[in-house]
Amino acid sequence: MNGGISFWYADDGLPATREPLTSDATADVCVVGGGYTGLWTAYYLKKAAPFLRITVLEQKFCGYGASGRNGGWLYNGIAGRDRYAGRHGHEAAVRLQRAMNETVGEVIRAAAEESIEADVHHGGVLEIACTPAQLARLKAFHAAELSYGEKDRVLLGARESAERVRVSGVVGSTWTPHGARLHPAKLVKGLAAAVEALGVTIHESTPVTEIRPKHAVTPYGTVRAPYVLRCTEGFTASLKGQRRTWLPMNSSMIATAPLSASQWEAIGWEGRETLGDMAHAYMYAQRTADGRIALGGRGVPYRFGSKTDNDGRTQQPTIEALRTVLTRLFPQLAGVPVAHAWSGVLGVPRDWCATVTLDRATGLGWAGGYVGSGVATANLAARTLRDLVQQDSGQAGPTDLTALPWVNHKVRKWEPEPLRWLGVHGMYATYNAADRRESTTHAPDSSRLARWADRVAGRH
Ligand SMILES: Cc1cc2nc3c(=O)[nH]c(=O)nc-3n(C[C@H](O)[C@H](O)[C@H](O)COP(=O)(O)OP(=O)(O)OC[C@H]3O[C@@H](n4cnc5c(N)ncnc54)[C@H](O)[C@@H]3O)c2cc1C
Repeated sequence: MNGGISFWYADDGLPATREPLTSDATADVCVVGGGYTGLWTAYYLKKAAPFLRITVLEQKFCGYGASGRNGGWLYNGIAGRDRYAGRHGHEAAVRLQRAMNETVGEVIRAAAEESIEADVHHGGVLEIACTPAQLARLKAFHAAELSYGEKDRVLLGARESAERVRVSGVVGSTWTPHGARLHPAKLVKGLAAAVEALGVTIHESTPVTEIRPKHAVTPYGTVRAPYVLRCTEGFTASLKGQRRTWLPMNSSMIATAPLSASQWEAIGWEGRETLGDMAHAYMYAQRTADGRIALGGRGVPYRFGSKTDNDGRTQQPTIEALRTVLTRLFPQLAGVPVAHAWSGVLGVPRDWCATVTLDRATGLGWAGGYVGSGVATANLAARTLRDLVQQDSGQAGPTDLTALPWVNHKVRKWEPEPLRWLGVHGMYATYNAADRRESTTHAPDSSRLARWADRVAGRH
């Protein structure tokens, strides 16, 4: 199957949709977008202040976006940490990292408290290297993580890595306990139900066409609220005035048919760690609760004019490319069918830094730009938006979260087309060329091509 939003919905079923907005309405807080960011924000705000009238407006159904399509890596990575360290100092970035480490546990705790069964397995994150250049990057990455306070992260040699997961050609890895595997759609469906049970109003099939101070405009009516929070991540470009705010980057995935017991025996992976690599065009994977491998990577990175996708359908060459990655890692799976392929969009700011903002002059807030690390980050963003709204409305003072360096960060917009399209496609073509060069030459250092692409893209 190709598309159908994602494998996760083929596995767990699409949710019944909720009623759309039918007329003008008022609320204390209006949240635009029913993914993890919007739903966690509604959740924590309503828990903190049950008297608040909160309305969530969702263009399709809750979990239609990346929150219902991702790789299920609940982990402590956050886009932009190094840049925040450069701007606000190392100690500020350490606080941000500590908050992210704690967020992994907070998602697991809150899901358990709300009886959300999301196939969570707290097995940590294993990132592997398969070439000398990847190993050099892995060691540098490992050292950087330690410097941000991750004392419990370990570096593993080729043999120890293969004892965890028998990946062909693995030369080393790094493992951290700050990660868990989960079923993305089960989490977002359960979260939407929990939010509704708390008394939040959710309108689905209700696209917001414009957000302006105190107004969220839809074809069916306008919601007026002192606070309007934009939680639309990779779809942000479709809102009036937001075309160049965050670039919608595609990520695509495949899920295999369930593997046999003997195939799993050959692979290992008993710890069910989330698994990634250190390629420039990196892959991410999980062992699913029903015994498949779900594996993702870049595919076609970006569509001209910031267009988003078509209910998760992905291109045949992308499926082939992901299949090639799968069989390079696990050659014994060459004959295993791909049961499902899909794609989704994530939001990329011009400086690749995730952010959470509340503009106190207008009451407009937003969170996102997580690049590819949003499953945990959305939860931290939501608790931060809660604190910012409570602070602004005089219900509470500043908190540790409102003092984190990603709060109220400003960034310039992306270039107009065709520069945007040319830049992103050039960057990913260069990353692919750099990966090919590193694996054929076995050079010990990262290809200069990739460093050049990073600079052009504004990543470093
Ligand atoms: C294929 C893929 C794999 C990924 N894997 C991982 C992973 O393993 N780990 C990780 O940490 N991150 C991963 N990510 C990123 C992560 O999934 C996202 O960062 C996260 O889900 C973002 O949540 P969100 O609520 O901000 O955005 P979304 O989940 O995209 O939600 C935004 C919602 O807003 C709605 N919306 C948009 N525009 C409007 C509008 N105008 N009016 C009303 N509603 C609107 C959308 O329909 C959508 O439901 C992945 C992303 C993709 C695409």
